[in-house]
Amino acid sequence: MSYSYLASSIADSPTLRLNEEARLLLERGQPVIHLGIGEPKNKAPINAILSSAAKLGTGDIKYSPTDGNPSLKKAIIRYTEENYDKLVEPENIIVSSGAKQAIFNVLYALLNPRDEVIILAPYWVSYPEIVKMVYGVPIIVTPEDGSLHPRMEDIIRVVSSSTKAIIVNSPNNPSGLVFSENFIQEIVKFCESKNIYLIMDDIYHKLVFDDKKAVPCYRFTKKDIEDSKVIVTNGISKLYGMTGFRIGWTIAPRRLVQIMTNIQAQTTSCASVILQAAAEGALTGLQSVVENLRLTIQNNRNIMMQELRSIKGVKVTEPGGTFYCFPDFTAYVRDSVQLSNLLLKKALVVTVPGKEFGMEGRLRLSYAGSVKDITEGVARIRWALDPDSPNEIYIGDRKMVRDWL
Ligand code: PMP
Repeated sequence: MSYSYLASSIADSPTLRLNEEARLLLERGQPVIHLGIGEPKNKAPINAILSSAAKLGTGDIKYSPTDGNPSLKKAIIRYTEENYDKLVEPENIIVSSGAKQAIFNVLYALLNPRDEVIILAPYWVSYPEIVKMVYGVPIIVTPEDGSLHPRMEDIIRVVSSSTKAIIVNSPNNPSGLVFSENFIQEIVKFCESKNIYLIMDDIYHKLVFDDKKAVPCYRFTKKDIEDSKVIVTNGISKLYGMTGFRIGWTIAPRRLVQIMTNIQAQTTSCASVILQAAAEGALTGLQSVVENLRLTIQNNRNIMMQELRSIKGVKVTEPGGTFYCFPDFTAYVRDSVQLSNLLLKKALVVTVPGKEFGMEGRLRLSYAGSVKDITEGVARIRWALDPDSPNEIYIGDRKMVRDWL
């Protein structure tokens, strides 16, 4: 049997695979700590639950317009005005089944075969695979100064006549960095002057710590949205802890929204009306849920930093947002897949190898879980790697002796 070369070459999602591995180990009664997780622990906001339950209760569950329910679009317009100081029209919005589908649709709508998309390392695992799925070419840019913050000079160096788009994700998965205002300003101006689309993946944009805010990209363009190169993708997964509800959206010029609507019409028809009702409930309900989540995660971030600093030789840049950090373990092992496997096998801690995000020697650690998960998880990592730490540790009720250092 022969399958599509392209489809067969698409990698699986390492984060979803690790979730599954952790689930199987937990099912077998193993005391696994999941520091790979990409979702907060909170329950869905009550307004989201009530709103979707009310919709379900009507029994009138049909298709919605392909680009989303008008009432949800209204909530997105208000959200965009409040958070971006930008007034958009319903025709500038398309609702999709998660931000992932939104990004897929944007790239499918923009790219011709062999068009290049610049992706900034460390990057979210799905960008290169989605670009390849729509016959594009991912061009990975790594900051040459060894930092985690992108630099314009590195980006400018790889721009070619085939460059169609640049994807920027700030606050960033996996580094947790909130990119500087200066960088956002420069990249918006650069893309608009070079006619390159700028896809701002803003899925974490309100999960920012220390009384700071992620700067809204629209501030730096004077162009009308119809002429602008800036495209924003967003969703409810991370801010409201609603990853299972699968609702995301895109803000773009209306012609692009029309093309994306046609793509969606021929693939999924529309996002589920029950889940759209949930998203509307989340966006129009009490916004203190986002603030409470932000404060919990900020506290978790502080604990994670304190614990990591107790491991000799581990270097970590303090995250300004998200629920991830991306520490450097090269003092111990450079091969991040080997390191992640060692930690899973010996210490029953799930981590995501830096290699998956385009950077070796690092692991992505999540602090979206409980404080206990963070302290115990990092204690196990210290025990597994640091020869100065005590030789014995309890993992669950089993006393483990380190015999590999
Ligand atoms: N962008 C980034 C940077 C993400 O981390 C994720 C989820 N892990 C997504 C997009 C997709 O989010 P959604 O659940 O809305 O598909």
